[in-house]
Amino acid sequence: MVAELTGMDEQTKSLLARPERVEQTELSIKVGEKTTTLPAYRVWHNTARGPAKGGIRFHPDVTLDEVKALSMWMSWKNAIVGLPFGGGKGGVTVNPKSLSLAELEQLSRAYARGFSEMFGQDTDIPAPDINTSSIHMGWMLDELEKIKARKEPGAITGKPIELGGSLGRTEATGLGGVYTIMNAVKSFGITGRKVAVQGYGNVGFHAAKFLADNGFKLVAVSDSKGGVHNPDGIGPALAMKAKKDRGSVKYYPGKEITNSELLELDVDILVPSAIEDIITKKNAHKIKAKLVVELANGPTTSEADKILGEQETIVVPDVLANAGGVSVSYLEWVQNRTGFYWSKHEVWDKLKLVMDRAFSEVYNFQKSSELSLRGAAIALAADRIVSSMKARGWV
Ligand code: NAD
Repeated sequence: MVAELTGMDEQTKSLLARPERVEQTELSIKVGEKTTTLPAYRVWHNTARGPAKGGIRFHPDVTLDEVKALSMWMSWKNAIVGLPFGGGKGGVTVNPKSLSLAELEQLSRAYARGFSEMFGQDTDIPAPDINTSSIHMGWMLDELEKIKARKEPGAITGKPIELGGSLGRTEATGLGGVYTIMNAVKSFGITGRKVAVQGYGNVGFHAAKFLADNGFKLVAVSDSKGGVHNPDGIGPALAMKAKKDRGSVKYYPGKEITNSELLELDVDILVPSAIEDIITKKNAHKIKAKLVVELANGPTTSEADKILGEQETIVVPDVLANAGGVSVSYLEWVQNRTGFYWSKHEVWDKLKLVMDRAFSEVYNFQKSSELSLRGAAIALAADRIVSSMKARGWV
């Protein structure tokens, strides 16, 4: 797809198609009385623009091929938002739910030891991903700093505040998504303000909260158990209370709906914030929203994307819309390197600058081309990466 979008030559195409560096190892940890070995990976897709940056996931389905694909995705995302990073990704094939906290600590430390030679603030900066969080990053940083025999907080982002983590990171993906929604609404002249948000975890909840704070009308929300539709408006905090107290947002006052029904509601803006592949060729033509903003990773299949394009539904792609998280990771890295720390609101103001600039660059590129926003975002990213490769004399 990238080569078609940018018309790049064969040599560049083949350099971008393959990751630059692939490392794998087996990590040994003690689970109960037994020693278990687990496959672990770290991949750099391309570092022409800067150190590799991307999360570490712990999941039973992790494979080397998946980590490679995700590292490429990080190259695009970092380049689209203009961060001085390349793309990287890591993972361990493990079911973390079967491990105790002490075993997870062993695993996190083993991972940091296994790839310590790659990690560093100027080489490769990991972060949390599926089933890893600031707790794991704290253990990894501690292990890495012992090996390096010095403090280097900028070597890992998404770490606890006490170790140099950034204020405002928790809300960053949802808030960055809302900055993007406001930009899209303005640029594409969307007049209605009715929104449906699918998924009510970290991203969905914060998106809902900041949307409501900015005058949007939240009329439907959902989680894995189901959803609720209330045309009079939904209070984000009370919906979260329903989820906490009773197990799902579907208990918020209003009409109970399924996740499929939420996607097809008569709203102005649809914000998928849960899982991948939920807008498919089966339901794309039923989507009434004028604007779909992908805060989840990969919620739209490629067939559905085509259908949405044909019916002129505007789709703001995940690589742009949900880049708020990695953007605040970048701001964390900057704070660590300078040793000067910002308040939450200073971080959010800087996040706004990053997200606003990224949106306007992708939007202007799209307007000057025949491409969709997704196509424009990827083409712009590839163009930036190739320019850096050229400047280095790699191509
Ligand atoms: P999370 O685990 O906090 O929340 C996920 C939410 O989705 C939960 O409310 C869950 O009930 C709901 N859900 C699960 N399956 C569902 C289904 N089939 N239908 C409807 N809802 C369902 O996760 P998160 O951190 O909020 O991440 C959500 C999405 O955003 C993921 O695709 C993730 O990759 C992406 N993302 C997250 C971040 C981040 O900073 N957290 C950054 C970039 C992208």
